[in-house]
Amino acid sequence: MSFESRMRAVHYKIEQACRKWARDPKDIEIIAVSKKQPLERVVEGLENGHRVFGENIVQAAKETWETSGLRNKYPDVKLHLVGALQTNKVKDAVALFDSIQTVDRPSLIDALVKETKKQNKTPEFFIQVNTGEEPQKAGVSPSELPRLLDYAKEKKIHIRGLMCIPPFDEPSALHFVFLKKIAQKHDLNFLSMGMSSDYEKAITSGATHVRIGSELFGERA
Ligand SMILES: *Cc1c(COP(=O)(O)O)cnc(C)c1O
Repeated sequence: MSFESRMRAVHYKIEQACRKWARDPKDIEIIAVSKKQPLERVVEGLENGHRVFGENIVQAAKETWETSGLRNKYPDVKLHLVGALQTNKVKDAVALFDSIQTVDRPSLIDALVKETKKQNKTPEFFIQVNTGEEPQKAGVSPSELPRLLDYAKEKKIHIRGLMCIPPFDEPSALHFVFLKKIAQKHDLNFLSMGMSSDYEKAITSGATHVRIGSELFGERA
């Protein structure tokens, strides 16, 4: 199936979900998660006019977007980092990404402040919340979030919204509603939640950014 028809199907489902909840589809940003996809599928998405993409590993994203020359060829592309960020990758991440969705600790905020100043860049930031409190998963625990938000404020780093990846084996809708509640409490208006299997549910819970990989590109390698 072509990217175009896959995208059309995604748009249709988003419109349906929005209609039920009186939301405007224009308020939903579709992040096409291109990680582990063959380059020709990414190019097809670009040729089709899509410009917002997500990647989860800095080094792999550099190869897909820089080494390939795609970033230069399509300068209006917007790249979101949706995977955990190690401090030693901050320099490359700031150079490449327009949005970093996985801020989750004070030391990372320190590194981001330093590097964004150095490179004179102003990416958007989301805090990743580990809503399921899974030990192996990145993200700040919900109880630590207020402190991290205070820290970001103190460091003058603007946090645009929250992001979550619900536990694999739990109903994701519960986590989406939970994230929305936390965001409201802190006056944050943007929510990155929902993937191929559950983005409609995420939209009914208030997602503003959905991260869709396999439904747009097909199965990953
Ligand atoms: C891979 C990935 C996605 C996309 O997953 P699909 O199920 O293929 O839509 C979304 N968000 C994150 C954080 C990912 O790592």
